[in-house]
Amino acid sequence: TDFLTAVFPARLFSEKLATWFASAQRDLPWREAENARDPYRVLVSEVMLQQTTVAAVIPFYRRFLERFPTVQNLAAAPLDDVMPLWAGLGYYSRARLLHRCAQAVIEKYGGEFPALVEEIQALPGVGRYTAGAVASISRNQKAPIVDANVARVFARIFLLEGDLKSTANQKTLWQRAEEIVQSCDEDELSPVRPSVVNPALMELGALVCTPRSPDCAHCPVQQFCGAYRSGRQNELPHRTPKQQTVELRDVCAFIFDASTQNVLLRQRAHDQKIWWRGMWELPRTTCRENETARDALLRLLRDELRLGDVEIGEHLKTVTHGVTHHHISLECWSAEVSSTRLSTQMPPGVAWYEWDETAHLALPSSMGSLLKWLRRHGGQA
Ligand code: SF4
Repeated sequence: TDFLTAVFPARLFSEKLATWFASAQRDLPWREAENARDPYRVLVSEVMLQQTTVAAVIPFYRRFLERFPTVQNLAAAPLDDVMPLWAGLGYYSRARLLHRCAQAVIEKYGGEFPALVEEIQALPGVGRYTAGAVASISRNQKAPIVDANVARVFARIFLLEGDLKSTANQKTLWQRAEEIVQSCDEDELSPVRPSVVNPALMELGALVCTPRSPDCAHCPVQQFCGAYRSGRQNELPHRTPKQQTVELRDVCAFIFDASTQNVLLRQRAHDQKIWWRGMWELPRTTCRENETARDALLRLLRDELRLGDVEIGEHLKTVTHGVTHHHISLECWSAEVSSTRLSTQMPPGVAWYEWDETAHLALPSSMGSLLKWLRRHGGQA
């Protein structure tokens, strides 16, 4: 308890962390000087890294910046050009928000990325963490950051009990982050500056103070750590019970025109709170309780999309995938629709595409792999 009530030596802590980071940090594309000093590029990396691993983000980050090297490039592009570059990363609402954010930078600040953390946080879709990361990394501002890595490190160092999302713990986490960043120097040449110490905190969580079996023996801040002193590093932070998995059964229809080698796709609505907004797919729906796959497909194709006479063929393939706490099994069935109907009156959002064209559309990744499989198996199964 003496340890907990004593004043936390934030400056010493920051120094130890910065020294360790100088030799231990990973080479990552967003840490290259030209990227790390550009708030737009830091924002792109931070948004991509939310909910996605570092290894998965790297190729997407490079491709995205190649196509949209500046905030002006991104703002000027139509959303339909942005989404394909995100396909495969998941959580597509992030791409939409990033795009809106770029447009706000143009509209409100004439393209000059705002400098203050408060201004950055006022941009669409930017939260306290992301604003702090952009301001501290690209501008060396004394703005605190708390992400999942930092929260875990602090839970151990400061012995935080219970759910880290609780109001009381959140307050403590942000206070500690503030103390640490305030102990840094604004001087660009100081080794102990916000643009070093904030990423170092996250890197410590990623490399040393990992969720399982933290490597305390090689930890640069071991001397400050309450969990290490009391042998509780494997017990903290307390795990919160997982949300129960929901099973969903989806069906989709493969409607193929053999004479033109075209496949029928539908674009999901742009304006509703649904998964994969604005992306393309084989017409798809979720089975209702006790509804057979055939009945669900008839409901979708005949009643909802009004494709006229519909005949459901055979089951071609099932792919399974997860979205948040949902486990989805997606069955693909072949189907035929009356061709007169399709040549005269296409329902809104429905279109024929050649196989090659589908590669340039924004498709949810499970749909992308399903289409590849269908194509390999010669259109008609
Ligand atoms: Fe984490 Fe162990 Fe370091 Fe404490 S001593 S911060 S538990 S790695």
